[in-house]
Amino acid sequence: MSDTAIKVVNPATGRLISAVEGWGAERVEAAVARARTASRAWALVPVAERAARAARLARALRERRGALASLVVAEMGKPVREAEGEVEKSALTAEYYARQGPAILADQHIEVDAAEAAWVSHEPLGLVLAVMPWNFPVWQVMRFAIPSLVAGNGVLLKHASNVTGSALALQDLFVAAGFPEHLVTALLIADREVPEVTARLIEDDRVAAVTLTGSDRAGAAVGSAAGRAAKKSVLELGGSDAFVVLDDADVGAAAAAAVKARFANSGQSCVCAKRFIVSASVADAFTSAFVAGVEALRVGDPREPDTQVGPLARDDLRAAIHRQVQDSVAAGARLLTGGRPLPGDGYFYEPTVLADTGPGMAAFDEETFGPLAALAVASDDEDAVRLANATAYGLGLSVWTADPARGVALARRVTSGAAFVNAIVASDPRLPFGGTKRSGYGRELAAAGIVEFTNTRTYWVG
Ligand code: NAP
Repeated sequence: MSDTAIKVVNPATGRLISAVEGWGAERVEAAVARARTASRAWALVPVAERAARAARLARALRERRGALASLVVAEMGKPVREAEGEVEKSALTAEYYARQGPAILADQHIEVDAAEAAWVSHEPLGLVLAVMPWNFPVWQVMRFAIPSLVAGNGVLLKHASNVTGSALALQDLFVAAGFPEHLVTALLIADREVPEVTARLIEDDRVAAVTLTGSDRAGAAVGSAAGRAAKKSVLELGGSDAFVVLDDADVGAAAAAAVKARFANSGQSCVCAKRFIVSASVADAFTSAFVAGVEALRVGDPREPDTQVGPLARDDLRAAIHRQVQDSVAAGARLLTGGRPLPGDGYFYEPTVLADTGPGMAAFDEETFGPLAALAVASDDEDAVRLANATAYGLGLSVWTADPARGVALARRVTSGAAFVNAIVASDPRLPFGGTKRSGYGRELAAAGIVEFTNTRTYWVG
């Protein structure tokens, strides 16, 4: 196998499941040329017709739900029920944009005294490069691609290399749903060539804009390339969301929600709650209920319908989590449960809870992308605000309290792209989604997510 092969390993077994050769420069060039032609033609298709294809996409997603979910499970180890959920959420998003897209994109007439007529229209940008992560192989692509296609753009998809089979399956799915061939093109780029090839694509005159969902490291690389080329970019990056439990909260409900919020997708979600900031008077009760919930999680074969936590997606990600646990313990954190890689095949890690964490510790300062929860105690609401803000990230926030007004007041003082009171942070096609601080910029989903990749154009007829 050559060193430019893109290898996919099943993280539950550690076995190689596929290897394809990364494309050379000529093949990338040919793909970009075809995609550019397809996107130009697509921009001329009326929006109602584009939206109708999104409705067909929803049906195609549901028809292929089982096959797509199995592929996701094999390539990145997500428990199968969650993989099916990811496909269904993508279908709901396709239906949302099929219904709402034309109204959101419709021309908006503005009364201007000196003009016969003036209006704002949302016109396609052209070809958009999408650099996507492996953690929701279907959903991450769909939540960008569906609105972007309904808006009249084409998509060059640089998916994460460990979900190459999913990338190719999605490319097929768009064609099966009636989108023109080459309008969505999966680019197969060997790992070591990714930074250079993406930078070259961003500079390419045929590429109008770029979006990246991934780590802040990759986001900085793509954002700077977009800056150099003076092109539009959207960055959906990491998170270290706070889950704040106030002294009047229903501790049992908060602890049960906390387990779900942290261990969904085996802890590998940007909006997983990662830092649990608990008022001193309820800290003991919350901690024992939370640890009991974590210890009851079923870890195992992601193909089994009752598995709740699968393997980490790659061996290096498991090593990174273990390093964060060990560094935090060395810095004074207390290990309450877990803390070790599980023996045997695959990249499994024990669901882990650390207490007494705070600024200066890896589990608190860094994004933890796996089954690791960091607990910290807050002396009062002021202290909770201080701890919640003590992060470079600003994606989501969840606050638990018997008094929603108090929860909202606290949320207003914490910087994040979303604030949920008495609910787990989650994306919803009807609501905008995105980050602040090092979690990135720009928005996906809802009206904001479809307008993001359009030319908001002013017309004036005198
Ligand atoms: P990653 O290593 O940043 O990879 C994401 C994508 O970027 C992959 O396609 C990757 O390609 C590519 N990439 C890596 N380095 C690059 C570079 N220098 N230039 C251009 N592209 C580059 O992130 P990941 O480990 O796959 O995903 C986990 C991260 O994504 C976490 O930080 C998580 O919080 C974040 N995330 C954010 C959101 C959000 O909406 N805010 C959602 C999900 C995940 P290769 O795979 O080929 O290396």
